[in-house]
Amino acid sequence: MAEHAVVIAGAGPTGLMLAGELALGGVDVGVVEQRASQDLPGSRAGGLHSRTIEVLDQRGIADRFLSEGQVAQVAGFAGVSLDISDFPTRHPYGLGLWQNHIERILAGWVGELAVTIYRRRQVTGFAQGDSGVDVELSDGQSLRAEYLVGCDGGRSLVRKAAGIEFPGWDPTTSSLLAEVEMAEEPELGMRRNAFGIHSLGKVEYEIRDGEVVYTDGGTVRVMVTEPDVGPTSEPTLRQLSEGLIAVYGTDYGIHSPTWITRFTDMTRQAAAYRQGRILLAGDAAHVHSPVGGQGLNTGVQDAVNLGWKLAQVVQRTAPESLLDTYHAERHPVAARVLRNTMAQVALMRADDRIEALRDTVSDLLSMDEPRRRFAAMMSGLDIHYDLGEGHPLLGRRMPDLDLVTANGPLRVFALLHDARPVLLNLGEPGGLDITPWADRAQLIDAKYVGDWELPALGQVAAPAAVLIRPDGYVAWVGDGTDTGLRDALTTWFGSP
Ligand SMILES: Cc1cc2nc3c(=O)[nH]c(=O)nc-3n(C[C@H](O)[C@H](O)[C@H](O)COP(=O)(O)OP(=O)(O)OC[C@H]3O[C@@H](n4cnc5c(N)ncnc54)[C@H](O)[C@@H]3O)c2cc1C
Repeated sequence: MAEHAVVIAGAGPTGLMLAGELALGGVDVGVVEQRASQDLPGSRAGGLHSRTIEVLDQRGIADRFLSEGQVAQVAGFAGVSLDISDFPTRHPYGLGLWQNHIERILAGWVGELAVTIYRRRQVTGFAQGDSGVDVELSDGQSLRAEYLVGCDGGRSLVRKAAGIEFPGWDPTTSSLLAEVEMAEEPELGMRRNAFGIHSLGKVEYEIRDGEVVYTDGGTVRVMVTEPDVGPTSEPTLRQLSEGLIAVYGTDYGIHSPTWITRFTDMTRQAAAYRQGRILLAGDAAHVHSPVGGQGLNTGVQDAVNLGWKLAQVVQRTAPESLLDTYHAERHPVAARVLRNTMAQVALMRADDRIEALRDTVSDLLSMDEPRRRFAAMMSGLDIHYDLGEGHPLLGRRMPDLDLVTANGPLRVFALLHDARPVLLNLGEPGGLDITPWADRAQLIDAKYVGDWELPALGQVAAPAAVLIRPDGYVAWVGDGTDTGLRDALTTWFGSP
């Protein structure tokens, strides 16, 4: 029986990101994926929000994505565009890039690290004991691990087999989504009718001056909302044709579909992200309407929150209880995503009164303060883990500042490429000592001249030092003394 410290079920965006994070943390990780290759039929998620681009930048791989996608203002709420170009981040935008490309690029990165991927087989069950988990595979083999992480999507076998509840709300609306060829050139863009919103676009596109530009011909991406919630069976080309005719009066001669699927606004969240040696991340832990494009982003960020914690627990530098902070921090983040998607779905309903309400919300969001707050939420830049009272930076993302060090200029995110914690001393050089943690955390003396500004919050007081976790969130803020530093180091990175 092959053994790994951690086995991940599923090599979607969440599983891949987690595999990379664990490998950076020096953990022996095996990933089980039922698909034969990383190829994904259909495009699914349409891109990345600002915070996810930052998270990738923290690992030094953001450029791989930026060079292939379309940088654009993608944040929005219930169809109201939210511009973040004035936000204090190196990436005040989102990225239009289909999920198949995101997965390919992530898989390329994981391929450079020490990760074993078992393809063409499923996780079919597991048995967890005091010392580990036996993971059963569909080919009759099994794997032994200390921890099993279910990154196996919304229908997660791991979640179900662990008996973790998945409470929430049944769907109220469904849409057919497909990629097809059309004999006639369709009317591209959005359309709204009594059933809801529909759209026709091209898989290949460019963004020029903020506008989506399609070339003639090519594969069409169809999204038609159904009059009633559709069945759970796989939709057919005929149903898609009927759906198009009901909305557009024609099916534009659709043929040769490469992908037809149905998505709904089913909204559910795992009651627990951890049960002993079993953890959940990504869609396995939360499902919701795709409105606002937050699913993949939330999954990738779950992985970045969990990876370094699990790595430390597996390596016995931190106690197992550190894993409980994963649920404590990430469950509220996804719960808020669930709430905001439910609000958006309600606001997008086809009804004159809802339309009046949508206009009202749109008016509100055109004002600066609401725009900044909602844009910070939708782009993931305002995430705040509750680490107690203190400086506003505590529990928030560390900005990617341009530092000056004895060795020259340095970006904060460059210090996070190896997923190791950083104590950044911006005060008197040599004023802080973390010798007992020297094997785990880096101590950098640096200077920063400039404002400290956080998305949505604005200007904050300059700290004398910050302890930055490998996921880029601030675990401790210094006031010129080392009060609380030992405790923070012990809490997050284990006893000296
Ligand atoms: C129409 C649509 C549009 C979307 N738009 C956006 C968007 O714009 N932005 C955004 O952020 N999100 C969007 N999403 C959501 C996004 O696609 C998901 O949130 C994302 O794919 C979740 O990633 P994941 O890795 O958690 O799960 P998945 O992508 O579902 O990956 C799970 C993986 O596990 C594998 N697997 C499953 N069961 C097993 C098993 N038992 N054994 C082994 N392998 C298994 C699967 O083959 C798969 O590769 C959209 C989704 C849809 C449907």
